[in-house]
Amino acid sequence: MSPRPDLAALDAADPLARFRDAFERPREMIYLAGNSLGPLPKASAERVARMVRDEWGESLVRGWNSHDWIGAPARVGGKIAGLIGARPDEVIVADSTSANLYKLAVAAMQARPDRPVVLSAPGDFPTDLYMLEGAIRTLGGGRRLALAEGEALEAAITGEVALLVLCHAHYRSGAVRDMAALTARAQAAGALVLWDLSHGTGVLDVDLNGCNADLAVGCGYKYLNGGPGAPAFLFVARRHQGTLLSPLAGWFGHARPFAFEDRYDPAAGVARFACGTPPMLSLAALEGGVDLALEAGAAAAAAKARALGDLFIDRVGDALILESPADSARRGGHVAFHHPDAFAIVQCLISRGVIGDYREPGTMRFGLSPLPLSFAEVARAADLLVEVVRSRAYDDPAFRQRSKVT
Ligand SMILES: *Cc1c(COP(=O)(O)O)cnc(C)c1O
Repeated sequence: MSPRPDLAALDAADPLARFRDAFERPREMIYLAGNSLGPLPKASAERVARMVRDEWGESLVRGWNSHDWIGAPARVGGKIAGLIGARPDEVIVADSTSANLYKLAVAAMQARPDRPVVLSAPGDFPTDLYMLEGAIRTLGGGRRLALAEGEALEAAITGEVALLVLCHAHYRSGAVRDMAALTARAQAAGALVLWDLSHGTGVLDVDLNGCNADLAVGCGYKYLNGGPGAPAFLFVARRHQGTLLSPLAGWFGHARPFAFEDRYDPAAGVARFACGTPPMLSLAALEGGVDLALEAGAAAAAAKARALGDLFIDRVGDALILESPADSARRGGHVAFHHPDAFAIVQCLISRGVIGDYREPGTMRFGLSPLPLSFAEVARAADLLVEVVRSRAYDDPAFRQRSKVT
């Protein structure tokens, strides 16, 4: 273990320190689950209340125009673009990450009709694999899902592959894939690539266009702090926008939704991947979180998250087995550790005011949201974790009871 850093000095030198006050902060709690559900920005609480009262309550249906509800998916998408190295007209907010992945995967498979394989990685986020299975079942035609990791993954990128679908930062280990290299490799073989940015947006300095990315999806309620069930986003590179088609061809993706025509005519641009009426209250909450992330800047947020992760890992030392990359350049916004009693340890820690989470089997995760957290808090949480592990305070039946959502 390296010499103990001066935490007060780290917090004093933190360029993002002022963002801590922008979040509601339940007292006596250190919240390290922002990788699962980000904390509540104060401005979002106000924005949603104002929208309910003044916009919905007063304007009613006129709000689609008078408050530009209709423009919100493209407006908020354009802001998210600034966090992921995309152009504003390449991103929209819509649906859930799962649904967006389905739409883009089907569109990509149909754009490569002679190639039967969709390639992904075993152990990637389950919904991604399930949605791919479902998309393949729908399209049929001898298509199949292949899963491979590491060198086998690179070897599996052949001329049979229509689409490569990968998570950028892994939900369990936090390991980050080399987006530029894998994208180039797959494109050289004639495949399209779809990145799931759920665990990176708001906490990594993603550069989609710098990596020549084709397609991407991502989540609104993790490091974007958009609120429970916040709508997700999707990215389609400009060069693909004229040719790819959404299989969920809803009226919000129509060129003229309010002409009420019988025939579907896809909107120009990424808007064709919208489907139905956007959830305006959730979009208002998401915009509050996105505005904060933009103000902080993706590079500064990523730098702080890396430093918080290094601090946490250093303090945990050899008390637990690290599942995340030790090298912060290869790590997303959370750190993960293994222990056979990880579930009970997380529950015990929660009883002491540190909220982390648990993933089967035996993984505990601690999300290091860069905007709301201080270095002192993160160090204190790590110290409490070590104390719980070393004292075996978790070894109590009360900490072994399971709930529905972990
Ligand atoms: C959180 C997460 C999702 C969430 O999908 P939903 O449709 O919002 O439930 C999808 N993919 C990854 C990689 C995630 O981390």
